[in-house]
Amino acid sequence: MTTTRIINASIIDTRAGQVLAGHEVRIADGRIVEVGPAPLPGSDDTILDAKGHFVMPGLVDSHVHVTAITPNFALLETLSPFYVGAKSSELLHDMLMRGFTTVRDAGGADHGLASAVEEDSLIGPRLLYAGRALSQTGGHGDMRGPGQQTFEGCFCCAGLGRVCDGVSEVRRAARDEIRKGAHQIKIMASGGVASPTDRIDSTQFSLEEIDAIVEEATAANIHTMAHAYTARAINRLIPRGVKTIEHGNLMDEESCRLFVEHDAYLTPTLATYDALAKEGVEAGMAEHLQRKVFDVLEAGGKALEMAQRHGVKMLYGSDLLGRMQRHQLNEFNLRKDVVPTDDLVRAATCNAADAFGARGDFGEIIPGARGDIIVLRHNPLEDITTLTRPEQDLLMIMKGGKVYKQALEG
Ligand code: ZN
Ligand code: ZN
Repeated sequence: MTTTRIINASIIDTRAGQVLAGHEVRIADGRIVEVGPAPLPGSDDTILDAKGHFVMPGLVDSHVHVTAITPNFALLETLSPFYVGAKSSELLHDMLMRGFTTVRDAGGADHGLASAVEEDSLIGPRLLYAGRALSQTGGHGDMRGPGQQTFEGCFCCAGLGRVCDGVSEVRRAARDEIRKGAHQIKIMASGGVASPTDRIDSTQFSLEEIDAIVEEATAANIHTMAHAYTARAINRLIPRGVKTIEHGNLMDEESCRLFVEHDAYLTPTLATYDALAKEGVEAGMAEHLQRKVFDVLEAGGKALEMAQRHGVKMLYGSDLLGRMQRHQLNEFNLRKDVVPTDDLVRAATCNAADAFGARGDFGEIIPGARGDIIVLRHNPLEDITTLTRPEQDLLMIMKGGKVYKQALEG
């Protein structure tokens, strides 16, 4: 067993929002085994000198689509999955180099891609995948235009969603994704921006269907994440056991109350609207969809403010598509004027572990957690924007005890 020790570390205690100066961290077999004031007793095979810089757990992006190599979902469904997988490798690599050691895929990625990352054939963050997102006919995951009757897509293509209707079909779909190893079940529970036929203010799936899906996820000890924009959609989901609400741009005060009461989490995804508004069409999004983007962009900022005011727990999410994924760290900029730095750090670390039922497994520098560690030049609790400059400020990236970037000497 080889061991690594990080010395001269100023540890970011993500849960407490504090810095623990003069600490050391020991990592063995991919996990953190010891944390304490210097010096830790015993010797180690490798010593990494953090030189007083800031040591924190690797970041978690709780809403990505690593197979969305283009924002045009209809086109995506026509591409070879081998081509899409190969292109995804670039997106995954860049995510890890930004400091993300875990990402939750909200539709598209599967066990094959996750295994390739696990085996280090693809360099990227650990991939928590949902498989295909469940959508009703005409819902946010149904990519047919109104003139199209049959499905051209199938389960061997590279789409993000699957259509299922009625209690028995949604149950089978959820069970099928669980059979393929899904870490969470994603449901499309309201209208969306990038879907061709639904309205943003529609609710999707009946209550009976939602109950059946949540029941199957709960039976498998995994959580359910739901795409939902409006208060009408969100407020019928949280009491039924949906753990995380994605987007939430048009929620209300009652939604906030429900989040707190049911210990549910909100994943705002402002980065994607910002990017779509600026360069969506240029990046390949169908032009007639861009109007929907402006409808939700401004509302998203107001929702963030309301959620923060009511103490709603939040996750970091970017939801970017295609080459717009390079703006993944911009979500920090878009939230920083509303959310204090300690809450923002939690959103991108320990809150995700808590929400996914994996408290202590990642998101904290504590014994037992994965060796997912980044070293920053500056203190993110003082200036969160240090996280947005990985090329200059991110000095080391470790995932599962293995070092992927080492610039501590610089
Ligand atoms: Zn969505
Ligand atoms: Zn999404």
